Amino acid sequence: MRPDLIIVGAGIFGLWAARHVLKRGERVLVLEKRHVGRGASGGFLGSLMPHMPDRWNDKKQMQYEGLRSIGDAIRELEADTGVNCGFRRCGRLMPLGHERMLVHLRERIEGARANWTDEAGKQIFSIQLIDTPFAGTIAEGWLAENAAPFGAAFDTLTARVNPRGYLEALETYVRNHSGAELREDCEVVGIEAAGDGVDIILSDGESLAGGRALIANGWEAYPLIGRIGGAVKGQPITGRGVKGQAVLLEHLHGDEAPVLYDGGSYIVPHGIAVGRDDKKRPNRIAVGSTSRDDWLPFEADAEIERCRFDEGDMDFLERARRLCPAIAAAPITEAWANVRPRNTIADPVTGKVGTEALFCRLDAAPQISIAVGGFKISFGMAHLDPGRFATCGAPDIS
Ligand SMILES: Cc1cc2nc3c(=O)[nH]c(=O)nc-3n(C[C@H](O)[C@H](O)[C@H](O)COP(=O)(O)OP(=O)(O)OC[C@H]3O[C@@H](n4cnc5c(N)ncnc54)[C@H](O)[C@@H]3O)c2cc1C
Repeated sequence: MRPDLIIVGAGIFGLWAARHVLKRGERVLVLEKRHVGRGASGGFLGSLMPHMPDRWNDKKQMQYEGLRSIGDAIRELEADTGVNCGFRRCGRLMPLGHERMLVHLRERIEGARANWTDEAGKQIFSIQLIDTPFAGTIAEGWLAENAAPFGAAFDTLTARVNPRGYLEALETYVRNHSGAELREDCEVVGIEAAGDGVDIILSDGESLAGGRALIANGWEAYPLIGRIGGAVKGQPITGRGVKGQAVLLEHLHGDEAPVLYDGGSYIVPHGIAVGRDDKKRPNRIAVGSTSRDDWLPFEADAEIERCRFDEGDMDFLERARRLCPAIAAAPITEAWANVRPRNTIADPVTGKVGTEALFCRLDAAPQISIAVGGFKISFGMAHLDPGRFATCGAPDIS
């Protein structure tokens, strides 16, 4: 039967979109070039970190709504599927390396008061200063005091999730739903508007008809969108793949340990959903990550390069060990690399290029939409209903 929606890509964005439309009673076909989990969503870092709450704008509001609602969205998904997604609102510690950071922190504490609120305007998440010495605080034995000469900022909004469990839960939901079909080893090479519907062309030449299409195939969305001349409000949709790598360490820790973050280094202590010892104590910590634009040498095989872990590019682990001496001797249990999407469109509010997720309909064919990840923030936003944000106007990429 002709699906109401055909989704290209079974990453976190494609599978969440499938869940939304299935809940509305529509029929969905998800087409995946490889297998579920082989894209950027199949890793283990899983930090869900907010933008800073000062200098507030619509983009920050949207990301806040994502982070605020994600706990409920995941609990509902877990209840529907029985799969543990390893979510915890664990908070985040960020060292203050310079005196002027105390001034920024004061603005952020005020920003959190004004913006990290519920519908009634009551503050529900906060940022505070954790002063040195750290003894008796959440930073004790976790964040190195010598890395934090002016103390640390601790926020209560940051969370963690196990990306693989989260993806498995979504896949389980879609596969078990009578209104859905998920096809793997199925590469989409073209999309065409056909009357008020769409025709999808596969690499083997097969053509599939559907009511609407959603392009959600991560960094590989940009060439696909380019082939159909995709633009929104006159702005061509462009972007690139940025390769990143991360490692998973074995180290016993308390389940309540916060994420540590400093200048691009993430340390994410996971719960038992990722790993545990024989006494059922959590023992996996993810550390990341790199960002490389020049990951694909001329004439190299993209399929090999996109997942190839580069042992020579591990400064991030050294930085993390200095930040968190507790993990200095922790052995690596897995090293992982993949390519994440980053658009090359300047944000009309902040002027920053490529930080936001794109949820929009194409100008030339409103029955074709895109849902492509924001750089490093996708997991906190993928559960937001793209339809909802298309109608409320944010993100506006004109
Ligand atoms: C090292 C690293 C660490 C990261 N850490 C975090 C983090 O801590 N927090 C966070 O929020 N984000 C993080 N990210 C970013 C996040 O992983 C991505 O932004 C997110 O997974 C993108 O999801 P997606 O669904 O858009 O893409 P993907 O997960 O890549 O899914 C796209 C899918 O589409 C399929 N596909 C591609 N082309 C086609 C085609 N033509 N036809 C059919 N299917 C196709 C692919 O095989 C893939 O399965 C990290 C990324 C990396 C690499």
